[in-house]
Amino acid sequence: MPETTDITGGCQCGAVRYRVVALGRSSVCHCRMCQRAFGAFYAPLVIAHGLEWTSGERRLFASSNISQRGFCGDCGTPLSLENFDDDQVEIATGTLDDPEIAPPTVQINHRYACSFADGIGGLPEPDEAAIAENEAWNATVVSRQG
Ligand SMILES: [Zn+2]
Ligand SMILES: [Zn+2]
Repeated sequence: MPETTDITGGCQCGAVRYRVVALGRSSVCHCRMCQRAFGAFYAPLVIAHGLEWTSGERRLFASSNISQRGFCGDCGTPLSLENFDDDQVEIATGTLDDPEIAPPTVQINHRYACSFADGIGGLPEPDEAAIAENEAWNATVVSRQG
C-alpha cells in the first residue's frame, strides 16, 4: 500500500494542530453564520475524513442546533464546522498547512452572499510602485504564527 502523505494544519499560534486522512468537497459558504464565525465575507471549508486533533484542544461553540464550530481559545483562529447528527466535519481551508491542495469547487448559500462578494476577484491591484512598497514592508514583518 502506498504511503499516504500527511494532510496537516492548525491555528495561527500553533497550539491546536490536526491531521486528516483525506479531503472531500472544498467550498466557500456565504451564509450569514459563516460570515460571522470567520469574520469574513465567506467561509472556505473543506470536508475532512479521518480527522485527528494531534495537539492542543480546540474550544467549541455550538453556533446552531445542528452544529458546533471549533476554534483556538488562545489565538481565535476558526478551525472547524462539526455537525451533531452525522460525522461530517469541515476544516477551515485556510488553516491547512498547504491550502493549495484544496481549491474550492462550489459556492454554498450563494443567495446570501454579500452584494460585492462576486466582484472581489476582479478588483484592481495597487500600482507597481505601491506593490513594491508593500513587498518591502512585508519583508520587515516577523511572523509569530506557528
Ligand atoms: Zn491558536
Ligand atoms: Zn455557512
